[in-house]
Amino acid sequence: MDPTAVGGEKPYRTAYAADVSEAKAGERVRLAGWVARRRDQGGVYFFDLRDVSGLVQVVVDPAEVPAARDLRMEYCITVEGTVRPRPAGMGNPELATGNVELAADQLEVLSRSEPLPFIIDDRSEADERLRLEYRYLDLRRPRMARNLRARSVATAAMRDVLNGRDFLEIETPTLIRSTPEGARDMLVPSRLRRGDFYALPQSPQLFKQLLMVGGVDRYYQIARCYRDEDFRSDRQLEFTQLDVEGSFWGREGVLETFEAVVAAVVERLRGVTLNLPFPRLAYAEALLRYGTDKPDLRFGMEISDLSDVFAETGFRAFSATLEAGGVIRGFNAGDRQLSRSQIDGLETRAKELGAKGLVSAVVEEGGSLRSPTTKFLSEPETTAIVKTLGGAPGDLLLLVADTARTAAQVLGQLRLDVGKPAGHDELVFLWVIDFPIFDELESGDLAPSHHPFTAPVDLIEMRERPRQAIAKAYDLVLNGSELGSGSVRIHDPEVQQEVFKILGISAEEAESRFGWFVKALRYGTPPHAGFAMGVDRLLAILQRETSIRDVIPFPKTQTGIDPMTGSPTAVDPTQLAELGIALRVGPDPEDPDREDG
Ligand code: ASP
Repeated sequence: MDPTAVGGEKPYRTAYAADVSEAKAGERVRLAGWVARRRDQGGVYFFDLRDVSGLVQVVVDPAEVPAARDLRMEYCITVEGTVRPRPAGMGNPELATGNVELAADQLEVLSRSEPLPFIIDDRSEADERLRLEYRYLDLRRPRMARNLRARSVATAAMRDVLNGRDFLEIETPTLIRSTPEGARDMLVPSRLRRGDFYALPQSPQLFKQLLMVGGVDRYYQIARCYRDEDFRSDRQLEFTQLDVEGSFWGREGVLETFEAVVAAVVERLRGVTLNLPFPRLAYAEALLRYGTDKPDLRFGMEISDLSDVFAETGFRAFSATLEAGGVIRGFNAGDRQLSRSQIDGLETRAKELGAKGLVSAVVEEGGSLRSPTTKFLSEPETTAIVKTLGGAPGDLLLLVADTARTAAQVLGQLRLDVGKPAGHDELVFLWVIDFPIFDELESGDLAPSHHPFTAPVDLIEMRERPRQAIAKAYDLVLNGSELGSGSVRIHDPEVQQEVFKILGISAEEAESRFGWFVKALRYGTPPHAGFAMGVDRLLAILQRETSIRDVIPFPKTQTGIDPMTGSPTAVDPTQLAELGIALRVGPDPEDPDREDG
């Protein structure tokens, strides 16, 4: 870093705080930054000066430098003095510069600060709403500054890998015609064409495909995407994806490229070299063994199917499930020494998750099972359960009898509840491949499992058995989080029309919604494939943050509000008039986020 920022006649600084080391003892330096933590001792003032590089202690005698008397927290200052070692025993091992201090003899306040709404350090955690209202202060905290820097390092690594492979970085528009990705569009009214709306892109999907038609060959973009979703878990209305597409390209090329990208990011942020290639798991197997299409493979506790064990069972609950076409599955939760009430808690949880019940049993010495259900099971059944689930004395076995879907969902979640490691020190990536091309909705209708532009593995199978047909689609998973997804695309306009038809989109509707896109496919479209990865999620995991909001410079709250600017807000009636819009529904008076409500 070049510390010389020339302001007027004199530079604001000649060094950064982190450069003030024992090697500089005796040298004069000038620093610029903020007053963090101040303490007065026997007439001399001590404070930590914080700049972009870190913190260093400054000592100043107000008798010599009267300006020091007025210093308050977060005043922005420039200070000059001599570097000196701290007296023996007075060092601060928590600070990289803890063995030295700057004995200041000049100090100038560049700008004052009002009293702070919260303390700016990594030790105190203010309420998130307050942090977001004063995000500019929150960003001064070393942790947040580290996250911003990491974000920049990560996107630079992505660009380096892709530029090195001849990908072109190309922007696509953000005022577009709606692109279906399965979420609700954010709409922008047009003033020039009153009554018409743009949509903000849920992703650059169709534009990147058009770039392939346009002969671009290799494309990427660090793209902002918008999805008007209710805030479940950890989502944002706008988020960032690394979006990639290539022509004359298929799954292997995409996967290898993303492995290289991810490995470069992890190397730079964590200093860890990942083992490549990442393991792959077929969707059906992931669902069977882990109950989810985004398994966390940092721990075992694999789910096993026990249906065969109970083929002849006299236990009514199990035989009825099997007769109805259901399954019996279970996993070994290990030696957990749970109390009765904790086990009851697991059962309540299983029911909340949709199961009719949960069978729990503890393996005893000699291989028998201790459980209220055991009396209904034959000895060969007990033995087979213990054997299949690898039960050792003390292990807790959890079984669910239900439809395959519910059993997977419930056991998958219970497996996470009992086994998921805290934090993200270990990184386990994997590809989930061979997704179904369609998902069946409760109504029996089919919806795209990824998006409607995904190519089937086998066209005949898609026509004849769409519910079973597999897509050329793949997801990247890290520690149980879906990082991104992609696919080989349909490049034949007739196949694209067929998919719309299977999805129940009429020819007229397909024409009016996607006609412009299918038209392009008619002009010699190259086979192409791509992928998009969530930058926010990857960053959050690598920075060991639990929320993506902590790696986004200016995020919205869980309820989609920006407490700093107050957005979203009502707009001036003249603005609405210009757009030809009249509001039929006023603000929700119950909305706690509205100050004007
Ligand atoms: N457009 C897709 C998404 O945003 C990713 C892709 O298929 O490239 O999820």
